Amino acid sequence: MVTIRADEISNIIREHIEQYNREVKVVNTSTVLQVGNGIARIYGLDEVMSGELVEFEEGTIGIALNLESNNVGVVLMGGGLMIQEGSSVKATGRIAQIPVSEAYLGRVINALAKPIDGRGEISASVIPIGRGQRELIIGDRQTGKTVVATDTILNQQGKNVICVYVAIGQKASSVAQVVTTLQEKGAMEYTIVVAETADSLATLQYLAPYTGAALAEYFMYHKRHTLIIYDDPSKQAQAYRQMSLLLRRPLGGEAYPRDVFYLHSRLLERAAKSGSRLGEGSMTALPIVETQSGDVSTYIPTNVISITDGQIFLSVNLFNARIRPAINMGISVSRVGSATQIKAMKQVACKLKLELAQFAELEAFAQFTSDLDKATQNQLARGQRLRELLKQSQSSPLTVEKQVMTIYTGTNGYLDSLEIGQVKKFLVELRTYLKMNKPQFQEIISSTKIFNEEVEALLKDVIQEQMERFLLYEQV
Ligand code: ATP
Ligand code: MG
Repeated sequence: MVTIRADEISNIIREHIEQYNREVKVVNTSTVLQVGNGIARIYGLDEVMSGELVEFEEGTIGIALNLESNNVGVVLMGGGLMIQEGSSVKATGRIAQIPVSEAYLGRVINALAKPIDGRGEISASVIPIGRGQRELIIGDRQTGKTVVATDTILNQQGKNVICVYVAIGQKASSVAQVVTTLQEKGAMEYTIVVAETADSLATLQYLAPYTGAALAEYFMYHKRHTLIIYDDPSKQAQAYRQMSLLLRRPLGGEAYPRDVFYLHSRLLERAAKSGSRLGEGSMTALPIVETQSGDVSTYIPTNVISITDGQIFLSVNLFNARIRPAINMGISVSRVGSATQIKAMKQVACKLKLELAQFAELEAFAQFTSDLDKATQNQLARGQRLRELLKQSQSSPLTVEKQVMTIYTGTNGYLDSLEIGQVKKFLVELRTYLKMNKPQFQEIISSTKIFNEEVEALLKDVIQEQMERFLLYEQV
């Protein structure tokens, strides 16, 4: 026999009433009017926000970009082949998000933060992607832009900097090559590669840089220094143009959508150095932009130049003259100036740019005449050697101490007595000799950051000793 105990029942009812949460959720659903070419038009979705994610019945996710009076234009983040006219869509109330964590280091992922290197899933938490210094690398195709950027990653070895390389609209083979170089040099340990290649959906190419930025930001807010490379935003702009045309948005300058400036500014303005309250992290951005025939006055290059703090201009002529990296010193600048260099570098490099500029003018002039006075000849000889010492082969970055030492050697005329062909060899041997015999040099500069009399005397001795050895050896 079952006895019914009134107090027990009333307790249960009371508990139920106490724990009752009135949860009213308005689900914002509507129907597909039209779908094709990676976009869908939706009827309804009255409450949807611009940039909000929507989910189709069969699982595809899209971003609501066009809010029109009687329909909403959505770009799809997937093929969407199974979406049918009249099927339902619901707004998610979220903006695009990706998972982020330390576990991403060393991995190659796509714009949706899914691994594409075949090395298994990555576990992480989720942060939104929709929301230092910025130096632009600009130049024609095949002028070594990517190499300048990837060498910068290699140079971060052991400096506790997290690097993110975002490849947008490139050939899969070029991306694979970058990843291989980074792996071979042990740089993948502190690097994340985000790749959407030329055959990816325009939507994903458009999203990839923001994905990279979200990753870098995560590390910045975890008190780390980060470097992010966008290779390159002009391809992102093309993907965005494709999306905009399909959405029938009006076009502006050079047939780009009118808000393409905003596309890039909201990407590059995320670069920052956070204050002490946020933990002193930083995010440095190196966007790469391709020009046609060296023309920097077209739409996308001028936009990006105006957003960034300076540019490194790579020239086809220099590249073909085997001056690599092919940096045109005349129009490459940093508006932050030398404030970011260590003092030792400022001390030795101040003369360099001036001498090179004078040399470039003199060289052009000297082509027309054969009888040059001694002073001019000397200046030409110096310039040629300075240019020689600035050549740097791929994937062989130098530490700042070595750069200081190399520039000092050149600007103080120690290389003038050598043949141009000997300069490189001499400098390589000098670096080794200095490291073996006077390790104090590096220690003093890296601890004090200045080029004092002590280091200068040290360096002078080493250069002289090495010069004697070198000439002896070369004559034999
Ligand atoms: P694209 O426009 O196709 O993206 P890019 O401007 O990024 O080209 P890179 O791919 O970086 O150019 O370099 C082009 C070629 O030049 C490569 O084969 C690379 O190996 C070579 N190269 C670049 N820099 C150097 C260098 N410092 N020393 C020797 N070779 C170099
Ligand atoms: Mg490239």
